[in-house]
Amino acid sequence: MVLYTPGQSSGYPRTEVKEGIRFHFLGGGNEVGNVGCVIEDNTGTRVLIDYGLAPTRPPKYPDQCPPITDAIITHSHIDHIGMVPWLTQFNNVKFHGTSLTSAVSEIMWRDTYKVSKIEGYPLTWDKRDLEYALESWVTHDYQEWFIIGEWKCRLHRAGHMPGAAMVEIETPTHRILWSGDLDTRDSPNTIGAKPIKCDILCLEATYGGKIHPDRSDEEARFVSTVKEIVQRGGVALIPAFASGRGQDILRILYREAPHLNVHYDGMGTRLTRKWFENPEHIKDVEDFEKVWKWTRKVSSKSDRKKALQADVIVTTSGMLDGGPALWYLNRLRADISNGILLTGYQAENSGGRKLLEEGKISIFGNLTKIDLDVSQFQLSNHAGHTELCNFAKDCSPKNMILFHAPEESRSVIFSELGEKIDIHLPVNGTPIHINS
Ligand SMILES: [Zn+2]
Repeated sequence: MVLYTPGQSSGYPRTEVKEGIRFHFLGGGNEVGNVGCVIEDNTGTRVLIDYGLAPTRPPKYPDQCPPITDAIITHSHIDHIGMVPWLTQFNNVKFHGTSLTSAVSEIMWRDTYKVSKIEGYPLTWDKRDLEYALESWVTHDYQEWFIIGEWKCRLHRAGHMPGAAMVEIETPTHRILWSGDLDTRDSPNTIGAKPIKCDILCLEATYGGKIHPDRSDEEARFVSTVKEIVQRGGVALIPAFASGRGQDILRILYREAPHLNVHYDGMGTRLTRKWFENPEHIKDVEDFEKVWKWTRKVSSKSDRKKALQADVIVTTSGMLDGGPALWYLNRLRADISNGILLTGYQAENSGGRKLLEEGKISIFGNLTKIDLDVSQFQLSNHAGHTELCNFAKDCSPKNMILFHAPEESRSVIFSELGEKIDIHLPVNGTPIHINS
């Protein structure tokens, strides 16, 4: 399934591009996750954007990538970066991204490697590829032009998480904007993305058709639930992604409830240190330094036991699929004054989804009934429907490709903007040509 052989057929078209731009999705075209798209024109310039692995059970992989010299990586979430080490099969391949994406990639790849061994799922790359990959980064500041073949490229802030980028590409015939994962709203740790005029907009549409609740209302509801649990003598367990969401939660709690005793555990602790080494990507970094000092970092088994006496534990994994969150849940479940706060979308087949729907979760292989209060909050760092449509209008493209989205999300945006913009709905493995 994923045992790629470089140079062999990948389903990628063998024909040259005669005119216009060709977009070929290896993954993430008509689905969320495992994004990879090859863009090519008649100058022979060919670029891959992202190469991810969807951490579902079992994981989903993109199609095999055809030979490339350059890949641009928008951000370090695993569904955009997880397969990148495989690309070192191509000699002297370069990975372009921000300094923070590059710095965090090592943690993400080492963790992916470890999890694949523990869970026994196949990975196409090995430790040697990982080391090569770490040496293949070329980092760029936002707004700084760089050349790939006959194209000029630059990165812009995407708002989704610190270091996340949109990609602007100037070909001899078109200006392309690739949104990456996008949020135009400010979040505790990032500043929102700004629109850029372009001819072709490639827009992620994860939350197409879905209106987010007001961010500050949702944060207030979240904080009051935490306080309620603590007031009745319980511990609030907050599973959160290591890259972005967990740090957002810490900032909100420090701002609204600094009297609480908050412990932070999991991969996010190592990852946050990379944030401080690349402070230009963090909104108001001095403030976050205070938050970080206030946060009690868990770094040993005895710290973990102490954390059980805390008011709040923020930890991975965000969808309760593993990590310290399950260890804590197993110990906290006996006392119903404790509570669980899920901070975002819970994917199908994830532990968090099962807990919400059935009140049960698999803990170390045993399906276990959980009697604690479980609440869910929309603290997403993706643009919602309104933000996506406004962003698209402000970029005023002639053509738009909607990707990284379920079918229903794409169709709602299509019906709203389809009269003004030529909208293309890609399917993995089927190229789209844009000439106009
Ligand atoms: Zn992302």
